[in-house]
Amino acid sequence: MKTLLINGDWCAADDGRTIDVDDPASGEVFTQLSRATATDVDSAVRAARNAYVNEWSRWSATERGRLLARIGEQIHANAQEIAEIESRDTGKPLHLARNDIAVLARYFEFYGAAADKHHGEVIPYLNGFNVQVVHEPLGVTAHIIPWNYPSQMFGRTACPSLAAGNALAVKPSEEACQSVLFIARLMQEAGLPDGVLNIVTGYGNEAGAALASHPGIDLITFTGSPAVGAQIQAGAAPNNVPCVLELGGKSPQIVFADADLEKAVPAIVGAIVQNTGQTCSAGSRLLIQRPVYEQVVQRVAEAISKTRTGMPDSQADCGPIITRAQFRRLNALLERLDASGVPRIAQGKVADVPQGGFFIPPMLYGPVPRDHELANAEAFGPLLAAIPFDDEQDAMALANATEYGLVAAIWTENGARQQRLARAVLAGQVYINCYGAGGGVELPFGGRKKSGYGREKGFHALDEFTTTKTIVNRFGT
Ligand code: NAD
Repeated sequence: MKTLLINGDWCAADDGRTIDVDDPASGEVFTQLSRATATDVDSAVRAARNAYVNEWSRWSATERGRLLARIGEQIHANAQEIAEIESRDTGKPLHLARNDIAVLARYFEFYGAAADKHHGEVIPYLNGFNVQVVHEPLGVTAHIIPWNYPSQMFGRTACPSLAAGNALAVKPSEEACQSVLFIARLMQEAGLPDGVLNIVTGYGNEAGAALASHPGIDLITFTGSPAVGAQIQAGAAPNNVPCVLELGGKSPQIVFADADLEKAVPAIVGAIVQNTGQTCSAGSRLLIQRPVYEQVVQRVAEAISKTRTGMPDSQADCGPIITRAQFRRLNALLERLDASGVPRIAQGKVADVPQGGFFIPPMLYGPVPRDHELANAEAFGPLLAAIPFDDEQDAMALANATEYGLVAAIWTENGARQQRLARAVLAGQVYINCYGAGGGVELPFGGRKKSGYGREKGFHALDEFTTTKTIVNRFGT
């Protein structure tokens, strides 16, 4: 098994060991990955440094942008095949995987076009001085990627970093990364120089930890759990390597009594059903003003009970949970919920699935006590917690009451209240009468508090993957 990409060559792990990968729809092993060692990680980082110094840093921004745009075209041309790979590997229904590949292509298009538009500044200073602030690449960036959107998450950090002029060492998730391996081959075929993209498949606590603590990297970007985010920061700290961290959320949907429920209900359901709830920006807390609590709960319950969870190749709304570990974590949470007596108001249907698959349908619970774990901790599954609130002050306090701060949505027709709440909510993105960070390649995205820091997507990502240099030139007497 050769799934390590180091300096343009596909190779096996240094000690030949491999990892079995489960098919989430059946629970059976369907493929293997090379299990990268610290030695492999070191080779990948060295290859990236060499490619950065001797090749990639010599390309102009325009040339880098053109190459990214060409890769975007190749992704479009191979979209069906990549979507099938993604669907098989993650269990997500094919129609959703196709969306993911469209977003992936958009990352290449957007950052291909942006590569030569990340302009510096000229600062007015003393007479006789010319002061320039130029953006420079960092050198080698490390990317640790989760399993929920393997291809999109790869595009989200790899594209701005490549556009900015860095060479990469990427550790995709050991649970799901077949699409990333396929895309890497497309990138090679499109003409990406050897060593600019290196991939080390492997376990988090082995290859991931070796990458995070490697002294040869200049930045690390990670999406995943807060616990692992903390470990990565600790690993990077002795080398003074900066991090960009996206660590999930417990995002509120705040529904006021004057909300347009025709618009709100489908968006609220979509935001928890999407990717079977395994989305960092899932709208997992449904905060409802008391006068409309019963009405909103009833409408959301109806919509949730109509959802269908099924096989990846069906037209189902949800596929299986992607990993065995996540399936176990969610089942344990469901047992605790039953034991705690919080009412399960509705759940979707599960149809035609084999024994052994990791299937859990969307569910609505409520009223969930404010101190319950379902009201505060990220479940990372299709579980929606309904919680009543009294007035705007109460809604604001409740919205900010978790350790997270990634996304929030405000459903009200009152314009002044929209603005007051949008400013008061601690989150990286706020949606008013809509919801969705999924596509939105152009929209800066990232968290506050335990949701992490740094901004990905849009032009702001180019700031994260570059540094500035101030050049002061005295030309006067
Ligand atoms: P995780 O955070 O452990 O794994 C994400 C990535 O980090 C994987 O590539 C993994 O190999 C790597 N990793 C794990 N341990 C590492 C370490 N010590 N050093 C470096 N890299 C390491 O996620 P998980 O355990 O698979 O899922 C746990 C929880 O994380 C989920 O229940 C969910 O709440 C959250 N999660 C969030 C996102 C997100 O998009 N924000 C994605 C996946 C998981």
